Amino acid sequence: MDLLVLGAGESGVGAALLGVKLGYQVRVSDRGKVKEKYKDVLNKTGIFWEENGHSKSGIGQPDLVVKSPGIPGHIPLIKDLMAGGAEVISEVEFASRHTDGKIVAITGTNGKTTTTSLIYHIFEKAGLDVAVVGNIGQSFAGAVAERDRDVYVVEVSSFQLDDIVHFKPYIAILLNITPDHLDRYEGEFDNYIDAKYRMTMNQDGEDHFIFWDDDPVIRKGNESRDIKAQFHPYSLNHPVREGAFLEEENIVVNLTNKPFEMSIHELALQGKHNTSNSMAASVAARIFEIRKEIVRESLSDFQNVEHRLEFVATIHGIKFINDSKATNVNSTWYALESIAEPIVWIVGGVDKGNDYSMLEPLVREKVKAIICLGKDNKKVIDFFSPMVEVIEEASTADEAVNLGYRFGTKGDVVLLSPACASFDLFENYEQRGHQFKRAIRAL
Ligand code: ADP
Repeated sequence: MDLLVLGAGESGVGAALLGVKLGYQVRVSDRGKVKEKYKDVLNKTGIFWEENGHSKSGIGQPDLVVKSPGIPGHIPLIKDLMAGGAEVISEVEFASRHTDGKIVAITGTNGKTTTTSLIYHIFEKAGLDVAVVGNIGQSFAGAVAERDRDVYVVEVSSFQLDDIVHFKPYIAILLNITPDHLDRYEGEFDNYIDAKYRMTMNQDGEDHFIFWDDDPVIRKGNESRDIKAQFHPYSLNHPVREGAFLEEENIVVNLTNKPFEMSIHELALQGKHNTSNSMAASVAARIFEIRKEIVRESLSDFQNVEHRLEFVATIHGIKFINDSKATNVNSTWYALESIAEPIVWIVGGVDKGNDYSMLEPLVREKVKAIICLGKDNKKVIDFFSPMVEVIEEASTADEAVNLGYRFGTKGDVVLLSPACASFDLFENYEQRGHQFKRAIRAL
């Protein structure tokens, strides 16, 4: 059997390794350049690969195609392969066909990496044989090729869900759905919603579906679909059964009549959005019957992932927070919401068609100065200048930090939470975050 892997990134190389292990004839073809570290892995395993374009001989006549989530399904190459009789699937689908492990899949517009890491942290502490895979780091297929585990905590993006067929999570978690990536879904929000819900389509009554019950898109989405899994809602504003909710300052997790409570002040992750992420993670843990003490301990000693509301330093009483990963308006809303102090806010970058209006009340209430960190800041300036006294532009992280330090006074927070992508001035959000932190340390 011939397997063609399109795209030699983390997921493609993982799929290739799994393919070899399963006895496929494997070819890997990439339209762009392949990173050295992946070339090394492919060479070491003796897998055929090509870069900078797909050649006829490189493509061959595959029975199965695993395509990278970055490649849209409607391009001629994919259509031709399908017309030639090949089955085209995603790497997540491929991996899931060859594991006996239970799958905990996490998706949503925001909070995937945070919640995935949190669940992995709890499961590891509980001593489960578990791997954390997907968007977050190692590919699912790569982990399965290495050694099959009992449990996989999988971060899945909507793109990865586009090409699943039988993928059937034991637990599916849907965190929230707000408009994002609409460029890929023909501008249709409904198509993006459908992609997220594909995660539940193969689930049956033995499986579990954990979802944020306060999200109107999810409430509506649940009603109009025939979901077979057991429902586990979680909410910040009303009690629920077989799920989790906030009761004053405690989260209550009440599964199978064995409730457990924990004060939100004990949670390592602060802010409303993180309280809901912690609730989603606790429900997953209790489905696995992990002891309350372990859940409690894990939720309180978890170290947050870099660039997500990450505390950097306090200098002369001014606190600096790095939220470079906030690349859309919704995640920035939660950052502004979670901070009680006056804020000097660093915002801007590549605007993906942002509607800033949801930020207006928080900006009026909390933000004392704005620093625009983007190439083209016109939209940010036009929208926010009536709301704040000070608004200035910066074109490097150093400049932004220096301005932040100048505008801030003791007791303020300088927050980098850009609501925009980073690639006008930076390679990616990680580089933006690192330069921000370096500039703070140089103050
Ligand atoms: P993802 O992997 O989905 O991009 P991350 O966990 O990396 O999500 O977080 C991305 C941004 O969204 C960060 O700025 C983070 O503080 C914020 N965030 C985290 N959880 C949530 C949530 N439940 N709702 C909204 N924003 C969130």
